[in-house]
Amino acid sequence: MHILIVEDEEKLARALKKGLEVKGFAVDWLSDSEKARNRILLYRNEYDLIILDLMLPGIDGATITESVRQENVTTPIIILTARNETEHKVDLLNKGADDYIVKPFSFEELLARINSVLRRPSLAQPVILKVGDLEMDTSTRVVRQEGTEVPLTLKEFALLECFMREPGTVLSREKLFDHVWDFNSLSWSNVLDVHMKNLRKKLQHDDRSEQLFETVRGVGYRLAGEVHV
Ligand code: CA
Repeated sequence: MHILIVEDEEKLARALKKGLEVKGFAVDWLSDSEKARNRILLYRNEYDLIILDLMLPGIDGATITESVRQENVTTPIIILTARNETEHKVDLLNKGADDYIVKPFSFEELLARINSVLRRPSLAQPVILKVGDLEMDTSTRVVRQEGTEVPLTLKEFALLECFMREPGTVLSREKLFDHVWDFNSLSWSNVLDVHMKNLRKKLQHDDRSEQLFETVRGVGYRLAGEVHV
């Protein structure tokens, strides 16, 4: 999951970025509202979530939200606000924000709201994803295969989550990279291959001939397996 933070308070922004990276998110941080607006419009499909401060020098968070929604950006937006008026909160939601959180807030509360917003999209994603013999609890971040817990690194978990949210679909290398690594990451093809190799190693049964992850030449990878509801 790839998150963009737009916040001009450096200390808060750095703390959020660090905290979210520890939880396995790929995080970009921008402090300039004009740059942020352009980034959102140009890279709309790279981000799974935007955390937007309300009071920014230049364009404020509510105006950014309104303007990117007018350009049909559907990425979920959570607004950080220091204000507490009811009227104002309604205004934020009307302008297209998905949720807001009032400063000062605890990291745990932000995390809960992020998880709730990320689960909300079109299909109302469940907390527990099941594909074939794989089961992923996205809230506790535990993966089990045939009931046995598989220890995964943060990046392996993030990759597997992309596949389990779209089983049977070929995911391009670019898409996987964009959702698992942040904007400043370089030489993506190598890094992605190494993580895919490790993920396969951890999830492949020795006695199984078929491939869990199918490599689609020149495109990307596909997770095989039936979705259980
Ligand atoms: Ca601010």
